[in-house]
Amino acid sequence: MEHKLQELKRRLLEIDNLEKAAAVLSWDQSTYMPPGGAEARGRQLATLARLAQEKFVDPAIGKLLDELQPYAESLPYDSTTASLVRVTRRKYEREVRVPPAFVGELFEHSAQAYQVWTEARPANDFARVQPLLEKTLEYSRRLADFFPGYEHIIDPLVDYADYSMKASTLKTLFADLRVELVPIVQAITSQPPADDSCLRKQFPHAAQLAISKEIVAQMGYDFQRGRLDLTHHPFETNFSVGDVRITTRVKENQLSECLYGVLHEGGHGMYEQGVRPELEGSPMGGGASAGLHESQSRLWENIVGRSRDFCEYAYPRLQAAFPEQLGEVPMETFYRAINRVERSLIRVDADEVTYNLHVMLRFDFEMALLEGSLAVRDLPEAWRERFKVDIGINPPDDRDGVLQDVHWYGGIIGGAFQGYTLGNVLGAAFFDQALKAHPEIPAEMRQGNFGTLRGWLVDNLYQHGSMFTAPELIERLTGGPIRIEPYLHYLRTKYGELYTL
Ligand code: ZN
Repeated sequence: MEHKLQELKRRLLEIDNLEKAAAVLSWDQSTYMPPGGAEARGRQLATLARLAQEKFVDPAIGKLLDELQPYAESLPYDSTTASLVRVTRRKYEREVRVPPAFVGELFEHSAQAYQVWTEARPANDFARVQPLLEKTLEYSRRLADFFPGYEHIIDPLVDYADYSMKASTLKTLFADLRVELVPIVQAITSQPPADDSCLRKQFPHAAQLAISKEIVAQMGYDFQRGRLDLTHHPFETNFSVGDVRITTRVKENQLSECLYGVLHEGGHGMYEQGVRPELEGSPMGGGASAGLHESQSRLWENIVGRSRDFCEYAYPRLQAAFPEQLGEVPMETFYRAINRVERSLIRVDADEVTYNLHVMLRFDFEMALLEGSLAVRDLPEAWRERFKVDIGINPPDDRDGVLQDVHWYGGIIGGAFQGYTLGNVLGAAFFDQALKAHPEIPAEMRQGNFGTLRGWLVDNLYQHGSMFTAPELIERLTGGPIRIEPYLHYLRTKYGELYTL
C-alpha cells in the first residue's frame, strides 16, 4: 500500500509541477511579457495544459485509486491519505469524462475568443465577438453533456467552480437575497450619496503602492512568500505555498482602486499562504472553491478593510502617506467615501450592497443561454432591459454592458459568477463565527493587529486547502449549511448606521 501511495503522490506531483509551470507563464503573460510574446506563449500554455491533462486521466491513476480505495476507507475521514484518495478520485472521475481532444479544442477556441474580445470591447462591437460567443455556448453545452443526469444544464459547469452547488439551490438563495437587497438599495440611493471627492485627488503612483504593501503586510500577507506586481486585470496566483503572488493596478486620480484591490487579492493570497505545506503538489493544495476563495478576498477587502475599526488603524497611516490630500479630511469623511453606495455600470467597481444584483443578472443570463431560452444575438438587448430594471440605469453602450466581463469571452458560459455572491454571503458568516470565538477582534483591528482573526481563519479554513469540500467546510465553520442571515445582518447594521433604511 505504501508503495502504491508513493506512486500516486509521485504522479500527482509531476502533474502539479506542469500546472504550476503553466501558472508562472500565465503570470508572466499578464505582467511583464512584451506583446510580441503572445502567440508563442499561447502555444506553450496549451502544451503544458495538454501534458498535465494527459497525465491526470492516465488509466494508471484510476488503477492506483481503485487499489488504494479500501485502505483509504480504513483510515479516518480527515486523515491526509484518506482525503488525498477521496479528493483525487472525485477529480479523476470528472476529468475522464471529458475527451482530451475536446479540452484542446475548447482551449484553442477560448484563446481566440479572448483575443477578439480584447479588440471588440474597446470598439464597442458586440457583433464582432457574437459568432465566437455562439461557439462558446455550444462548447459549454457539450461540456455539460459529458455529465448526463443533471437537474439543470448549468449544474455540471457550476460544479467545476463550486462543487455540489446546484441551480435549484442558487435560485432560491439569490431570490431570498434579492427580496432583501432591492429595498435596501432603494432606500440608500434615494438619499444624497456620500461625498467621495477625498478619494479622487492626485495620489502619486509609488506612494499608493508603498502604503498598500504596508497595510496588506500588516494584515498578514507574507512578502517573504509573495510579491506584488502591476497588471491590467488584478488577480492572485500561486506556484507553491512559498510563492503566492498578487497583482494590482494604480490610478493616480483614484485612491481606493489600488488599495482595496491589494486588500482583495491579499485575501486570496493569505488563503493560499495558509494551506498546510504537506498538501502541496496534490489536488488538495489550494483553496476549496470559488465561493470560499471569494469569501476571503471579500472578507479582508470589505468586512475588515471598509470597517470603522480598520480605519482607526489605517487612516492615520494614509494621512501620513498623503498629508496634502488627506491631512485635513476627517476619518468619518473617508469612511463614508469608501462605503459610498450607488447604482453603477461596472460589476468589479460596484459597492458591497449593489454588487450581488450585478451577479444575479449574469447568473440568470447564463441559465437562459444554456437552456436555449435566450439567443446570443439577443443578449445585448436583454442585458440593457434587465440592467435597467435591476440596477436602475441605462447602460450607454455594450462596452460597459454585455462586453464588460472577460469570463464568457475567455472561458465557458456557466459557473463563472455565482462564486462572487457566495463569497459575500460566506465571508460575513465566517466573520460572525470568528467574532463569537474572539470578541476582542474589533479592538485588535483598531490597533492594527489582525493576528487573532487571521489565526482563526488559518486554523478553521486555510490550512485544510481542498481536503474537504466547500459544503463540508461551511458546516465545520458555521455548524450548518450556507445561510444569508449573517450577511444581511452585516449589511443592515453597517448601512443602517450610515443611511436611514
Ligand atoms: Zn476575487
